Amino acid sequence: MKKYHVWTEGCQMNVADSQRVGSALERLGYTFTGKLEEADVIVLNTCVVRQSAEDKAYGRLSSIKPLKIKNPQLVVNLMGCLVGIRDTDKLHARFPYVDVFSPPSDPGPLVAYLTQGEAQALEASETGERFAVMDGNLILPEHERGKLVSAFVPVVLGCSHACTFCIIPSRRGGERSRPAAEILAEVRALAAQGVKEVTLLGQIVDRYGKDRPDGPNLAALLRRLDQVEGLERIRFLTSHPNYFGEDIMDTVAELPKVMPHIEIPIQAGDDEVLKNMRRGYTQADYRAIVEKIRRRIPDCSIATDVIVGFPGETEAQFMETTRVLADLKMDVAHLARYSPRPGTVAERRLTDDVPEAEKMRRFRLLEELQEKIVGEINARYLGEKVEVLFEEKVKGRWRGRTPTNKLVFVETDENLRGRVLPVTVTWSGPWSMQASLVR
Ligand code: SF4
Repeated sequence: MKKYHVWTEGCQMNVADSQRVGSALERLGYTFTGKLEEADVIVLNTCVVRQSAEDKAYGRLSSIKPLKIKNPQLVVNLMGCLVGIRDTDKLHARFPYVDVFSPPSDPGPLVAYLTQGEAQALEASETGERFAVMDGNLILPEHERGKLVSAFVPVVLGCSHACTFCIIPSRRGGERSRPAAEILAEVRALAAQGVKEVTLLGQIVDRYGKDRPDGPNLAALLRRLDQVEGLERIRFLTSHPNYFGEDIMDTVAELPKVMPHIEIPIQAGDDEVLKNMRRGYTQADYRAIVEKIRRRIPDCSIATDVIVGFPGETEAQFMETTRVLADLKMDVAHLARYSPRPGTVAERRLTDDVPEAEKMRRFRLLEELQEKIVGEINARYLGEKVEVLFEEKVKGRWRGRTPTNKLVFVETDENLRGRVLPVTVTWSGPWSMQASLVR
């Protein structure tokens, strides 16, 4: 029996895409192997959002070369953001031992290569953005079936917003919402295979349906998904402050399966920096939306993203970011230091003028601030009873998440996989909590 191996780097969208590739390959009769050397097909699903991720992908590609020399029958598929949606000539020249190049979210070229030969595969890869095997009836790869508790489901592919620092729109193409029927069928199929929680993915997930005027928007989609039998929890990310409407807040507040956790990036606190990033809102707009969410969903946790050291960011402008984080007290802040990504507007038009050491200082400052804030927020859980969905056992402890997405560990010999159980929090820190099962 032929075997495949998938290596995934990057965001949840890539994790979901890799599941699709696994699903497609298993339909062709391949089985998964965790060992690179055993594989007949190797898929590298890449990410280029950060330079380090891109370097890792190149490192992986180089490590595959000797395997291909040893076994010329080995099929190597390079997929994801490194490939993008445009011409692959340069990549072909640099990595001649790669057989198939696939754009993000599209296992089509690999399937075509394996089933129809090279000429048709080339044609298929040129077609670009398609959903050849994303037919809404996702059968999980065998090694995940019955074991996967939480799955990612892409609902919006690509992005048309074009923030100046971001490479996603040029790599993943313009925004396309998947048909609601396809998503529903996929979520039902996942629930039937034992999945208890789905996280709907989109670069701007709250824009779901805006390119499909005849279909539901995100709020209406959530209401339909809330009915799926067997499914316990629904999450969605990433939201954009400009599109987060009251109808979405209502679904989070009202629907039992939609979890009270919102990921809504600010990126910077200063209006001038936000303008240079082309984010489309001001600090005041952002504050207003956070306040509105908290009024409507009082127990909601909110996560944000922040980039420090964007071109031209002065000390005073950085202090605006510090101020807004100190005031709003977010549950999570994903922090990043700016680094120019080739092909972005910021790389072409703005000077990366904040020294690395200064970027690091700003990063550390926010890290310390955030650690203190989250430590205080999580301390409120001490002694409280919360419902946790348990996913897996890691080093003798079961790991799960609260509705607000807090990480919880419980020590027990019982099998808790896929169960939602009440626990009492016995210890809390900024990054996780410990708890005991309520008897
Ligand atoms: S909203 Fe901005 S940061 Fe997010 S994917 Fe689109 S362009 Fe990139």
